[in-house]
Amino acid sequence: MIEESVAKKARKQLYKAAKEIQLDSDLLRIMEKPMRILKVSIPIRLDSGQVRVFTGYRCQYNNAKGPAKGGVRYHPKVTEDEVTALAAWMTWKCSLLDLPYGGAKGGIVCDPRNMSEGELERMTRRYTSEIMPILGPHIDIPAPDVYTTSKTMAWIMDTFSMFKGYTEPSIVTGKPEILGGSKGRKEATGKGVSLIVRELFKAKKKSLKGAKIAIQGFGNVGGHAALFLSKMGAKIISASDVSGALVDPNGLDIPALIDCVEKHACIIKHPGKQIERDDVLYQDVDVLIPAALENQIHRKNADKIQAKFIVEGANGPTTPEADDILQQRKIPVIPDILANAGGVVVSHLEWVQALSGLYWEEDQVNAELERKMIKAFKEVWREATQRNISFRCAAYIVAIGRIAEIYRYRGIFP
Ligand code: NAD
Repeated sequence: MIEESVAKKARKQLYKAAKEIQLDSDLLRIMEKPMRILKVSIPIRLDSGQVRVFTGYRCQYNNAKGPAKGGVRYHPKVTEDEVTALAAWMTWKCSLLDLPYGGAKGGIVCDPRNMSEGELERMTRRYTSEIMPILGPHIDIPAPDVYTTSKTMAWIMDTFSMFKGYTEPSIVTGKPEILGGSKGRKEATGKGVSLIVRELFKAKKKSLKGAKIAIQGFGNVGGHAALFLSKMGAKIISASDVSGALVDPNGLDIPALIDCVEKHACIIKHPGKQIERDDVLYQDVDVLIPAALENQIHRKNADKIQAKFIVEGANGPTTPEADDILQQRKIPVIPDILANAGGVVVSHLEWVQALSGLYWEEDQVNAELERKMIKAFKEVWREATQRNISFRCAAYIVAIGRIAEIYRYRGIFP
């Protein structure tokens, strides 16, 4: 993996689209900068009795379209730069899907896999109390991201509610259903990825039956994408997680692989042929779905990609240099802000349900998810085809075009 500023990379993507539509330079000056970043120290007592101070961030990138919305990540490599990029991508994603939200992201620099549940709970609660001044159902609404789960969201919701003195389910999304979480939220991002693959194949007049797919990262997004795509008839011939990678030309048994990850927290305990972890990226497949972390496809390995299409399950898995190489090699990339938007689409539905106190059935949620994903896909497809540009640039044009229009009405305060 190549270490580089992810925020710089996010800005490069913005500049490309801004140039294509000759975006007003005043508006670009606003959009290239995060609105607000809070850095906090999080002291907690570890199980050993020692006190350790973690560092956490919350970046609200832009709120022109509504309250800031975005996940919270627990990972040793979290940085201010990374949360800023992730918050920018959330802003463009929410706009592309035409949700009434701006973008945010948060994170704590920690290694959650080496922490006990009690330590994680204390860290989450203290982080929540530290970022409380900028949290609120109409200000900023967190959700799960890498190594955070519905349980993490329950702790955030409870902490916020304790401070307020009343129960506030609309402060987070991706929470357990019993606390007002939406049906279908856990599966939503992976399901959205599978819908985008299906629409792409439809648009290209190809059949998904027997299509070969490789997935990097077998967590919430990768695992669910694998499940829905295999149900649609595709063959997942390779998958990886942080522990390693598996390959099976006849297609991996996805439900068994998901059971294995639930039991052992790693895929390589599943029987099958193991390959080098990063070789999942270089398989001869129809679709490669990077669903782990940023910067996985970069200038040093983009030449090795054999997939016919890349559909980004993760945020920012392809660097701008790799994007250029892939474009020259005629390997289309369906960008993160479209492909993995299913999560925030259902998060929005969860927020609406919590605010109204009326809860939806799963088929209602899934129908709305499908409608929104197809609509956004078609808008991006049209823009890309008419202008003969990449899907990423097309998606940015739709997204920043909407935000620009909002600024034209709202003006610039004061
Ligand atoms: P997760 O923690 O559930 O899963 C992450 C997976 O990636 C794990 O299987 C982990 O082992 C694997 N991984 C980590 N490093 C790896 C490596 N070097 N090689 C192979 N696998 C590796 O996280 P998630 O929620 O599935 O998120 C994955 C990506 O999708 C992130 O980029 C996240 O920002 C993005 N995303 C998540 C959601 C959501 O709703 N959860 C929504 C939109 C985007």
